Amino acid sequence: MDFGFTILGSGSRGNATVIHTAAGNLLLDAGFSAKELCSRMEKRAIDPASIRALLITHEHEDHIRGCRVFADKFSIPVYETSETARAITHKKMNASNVVLIQPGNKFELCGLTIEPFSVSHDVVDAVAYTFCRNGLKFGYATDLGCTNLLVMNKLRNCKALVLESNYEPEYLRKSARPLQTKRRIMSRHGHLSNQDAMAALEELLNEQTEHLVFAHLSSECNCPDLVRKMAEECLCNLNRHDIRIAIAAQDEPLETYWLNKRK
Ligand SMILES: [Zn+2]
Ligand SMILES: [Zn+2]
Repeated sequence: MDFGFTILGSGSRGNATVIHTAAGNLLLDAGFSAKELCSRMEKRAIDPASIRALLITHEHEDHIRGCRVFADKFSIPVYETSETARAITHKKMNASNVVLIQPGNKFELCGLTIEPFSVSHDVVDAVAYTFCRNGLKFGYATDLGCTNLLVMNKLRNCKALVLESNYEPEYLRKSARPLQTKRRIMSRHGHLSNQDAMAALEELLNEQTEHLVFAHLSSECNCPDLVRKMAEECLCNLNRHDIRIAIAAQDEPLETYWLNKRK
């Protein structure tokens, strides 16, 4: 059985991705309203009633906006760490059925082995995830203050990888954002710059890697064309013309990507 993913949207105004399996679909983050999540799914011919569970990375609004309404409407469980659950409950945005997970503890859903792992971000207990089946691995990591050793180890050997490429330092410096916000974004608990993302690629790519998606781009302090150009240059230097690149957009879902065993 294959599995795949569809990024419904990504950026500071909302993040959500559907993971497809033959045993049903999963939703990774619910950063849009429930209504918006459904309409984006329908655009990609995904039945919202096919979602079996919701997985949360952290409690920032751009990841949980539709959490309670969507999960309760479709009577699905929400997987989150206990600290994150407390934070979401405090915001009165938690669903009625919560399943607690722990960073580093793998669990199974819809035939996938799912591993949440800790990332450095300015919240109580942020995680990123890897999804594995039959030796195929999909990694999803946004809202990363830095690519530390743990992150690099977990994201190695992915066939498909979604990696944050949040801001271009020059654009951020010149932006009208308050100094405190700029410092927060650039800190080890903020977001990953284009340079950080490209530097990580050299170490993360291997012969299995087939597909790269750059995500959570800042709308003010980045530009999709710039990220694409930097990624193309980086892959050219690594002599990896075979890898497909996509840039996740804030307003439009991407095409579904399927992870298959090479014939
Ligand atoms: Zn965040
Ligand atoms: Zn975010």
